Amino acid sequence: MKIGKYSIGIGDRFGQQGKAQLDAILQARQLGVQVTPVWNKSFREHAIIHSEPADTRAEADAAVGALAWDGPYFVDADHVNLKIIDPFITVSDFFTLDVADVIGVKADPTVIQTFVEQNREYHGRLIPGLEETLQATENLLRHIGEKYLAAIEEAGRIYQHIAARKIQFVAEISMDETDAPQSPVELFFILAAIAQRGIPIQTIAPKFTGRFNKGVDYVGDLERFAREFEQHLAVIQFAIREFSLPATLKLSVHSGSDKFSIYGPIRQAMLNFDAGLHIKTAGTTWLEELIGLAVAGGDGLDIAKRIYRGAFERADELIKPYASVVDIDEHLLPTPDDVDRWDSQHYADALRHDQQHEFYNPNFRQLLHVGYKIAAEMGDHYLEAVKKYEKVVAENVTANLFVRHLKPLFIGN
Ligand SMILES: [Zn+2]
Repeated sequence: MKIGKYSIGIGDRFGQQGKAQLDAILQARQLGVQVTPVWNKSFREHAIIHSEPADTRAEADAAVGALAWDGPYFVDADHVNLKIIDPFITVSDFFTLDVADVIGVKADPTVIQTFVEQNREYHGRLIPGLEETLQATENLLRHIGEKYLAAIEEAGRIYQHIAARKIQFVAEISMDETDAPQSPVELFFILAAIAQRGIPIQTIAPKFTGRFNKGVDYVGDLERFAREFEQHLAVIQFAIREFSLPATLKLSVHSGSDKFSIYGPIRQAMLNFDAGLHIKTAGTTWLEELIGLAVAGGDGLDIAKRIYRGAFERADELIKPYASVVDIDEHLLPTPDDVDRWDSQHYADALRHDQQHEFYNPNFRQLLHVGYKIAAEMGDHYLEAVKKYEKVVAENVTANLFVRHLKPLFIGN
C-alpha cells in the first residue's frame, strides 16, 4: 500500500466535517493537484471526546461515499504505541508509530556496538545537498545510537505487532513530541537504523527547529528552518537509494495546525527536490466549526461564548495535556464577560487565523484550540448546533483548508 506524493492529515475532533474537508481536496483536484486525504485522530483526542477509532473510519467512508471520491484515502492511528494500538488496528490503514518517549533510553550495548560498526563506512561520505561530508566518527555514531536506537527498536516492535494482524498499511515513525530537534545527520542515521530493522516506513516526522504551538503560526528562525528542511529532504533522497527504503518515503510535518510562515519555504524545498510531503494540520477544523457557529449568530453564537467561558474557567486543566505546545499569555485573554458582549463578527475575527486583523488574538485562539473538551461535554447540544448550522460551518471548514493550507502548500499562490 503506497501513499501518494502529497497527502494531508485532516483530523476532525467531532467527526462532523469529513465532507467539508474532502470538498477542499476536490477543489485542489479540479486544479490538477492530487492530494491524498488522511483522517487522523490520536488516542488523546479519542479519550477526551469519548469517541472510538471506528468513528474516524465511519466518518472517512461516509465523506468518500457522499462526494463519490474515487481517489485513495487513509485513516491514521495517530501517535500510537503498543499500549494503545489494538482498537486502531482493524479500522486504520495508516499508523503513526510514536516513539518519542523512548528517545534517550539506552539500548543494549551490543545493539549500539553493531550500529556503530554497520555505519562506520559513512565516515567522510558526501550526501548531495548536505553542506559538509559526514563526520561519522565512532563518538558521533555511539551518541546517536545511545539516543535513538531504543526508540527505533520500539518502532520495530509496534510495526511487527501491526504486521502480524494486517497486510496492507502505511507506516510512519514520529519523533516530534520530544525536546530537541533532530539534525539532518541524525535523521540520516535514524533512517539507516530503521532500514536495518526492515521497517518500511513511508513517512517520518522529526521534530523541526522552532516552536510549533497549537493552532498558531510558527515561531522560530525561518532561514534556519528552510535550510534544515532542505537538508532533511536531501538526506531522505539519499537514504531511499542507499538503504532501499520505500521510494515513497517523505517527511511528515506535524504542524500543530496553521504554520503558515513555513509553508512558503516548505513549498520551495519540495519544488527544489521534487519531493513529496505529508502535513498534519488537524485541530484547525474544530476552530472553524466554532467560527461557523459564531458567524451563524443566535444560539450558535451563544454556544461559542459558553465554550469560551468554560475554557477560560478550566484553562489549567485543558492546557495540561498540551502544556509543551501552547504559549498562552493569560493577561491577554479576554474575560468571558468581555466575550459575552461581542457580536458574531467580533468573535469570528478574534478567533480566525488572520494575523493582520486588529481583533485577532492568538491567546484566545490557543485556549479554544485546546478547549474542545468543553464542547465534548456539551454532547448532543453541541453536535446538534453544528448540524443545524452545517452550511455556514462547512463553508468555513472548506475555505480554511483550501485557501490557507492546500493552496499555499501544494498549488502555489
Ligand atoms: Zn505529532
